[in-house]
Amino acid sequence: TPAADHVHALLASYEDFPQAGILFRDLNPVFADAAAFRALIDELAGRFRGEFDAVAGIEARGFLLAAAIGYAADVAVLAVRKGGKLPGAVLSEEYDLEYGSACLELEIGQLAPGARVLVVDDVLATGGTIAATSRLVERAGYRLTGVGVVLELTELVGRTRLGDAPIHAIVAL
Ligand code: 5GP
Repeated sequence: TPAADHVHALLASYEDFPQAGILFRDLNPVFADAAAFRALIDELAGRFRGEFDAVAGIEARGFLLAAAIGYAADVAVLAVRKGGKLPGAVLSEEYDLEYGSACLELEIGQLAPGARVLVVDDVLATGGTIAATSRLVERAGYRLTGVGVVLELTELVGRTRLGDAPIHAIVAL
């Protein structure tokens, strides 16, 4: 696809970041190219067109994708934040990361019960982050309608930790 071509051309890789043994994929050069960023948004919004009432972005790069997809598709935007940053009534999910552990949170009562939510993030690695986000979406009373990522790191088999909702990766490495 045009988006995949942009990713292949612009993706940067860093060995031993943020710690020894990790090959870190940096998508910032893709986001920093206007045509490439537009292609990412068009592909993700297009794949799920008509299938979602809201798009939930995972802090932090997922926010960038979710904001643009929400605008393009004219749907609500939700921010799934790292623990301790949201006020009021929130749901929390602890999960294991490729490196370390973490907590994600979602404010409750933002959408109607049963709203169809598309979850987006930059990278699907071990799947822990998106699995935790999926649990938040479901616990909040919404329906997970799909998962969209720019890059799937297939050797970490994150896909196997997710449920039945369709997963669209622009590039799988
Ligand atoms: P997972 O929970 O699937 O193991 O990790 C996914 C989360 O960690 C995503 O939010 C993603 O931003 C971050 N992540 C893990 N590996 C990489 C990587 O190689 N590059 C980037 N940009 N993010 C990564």
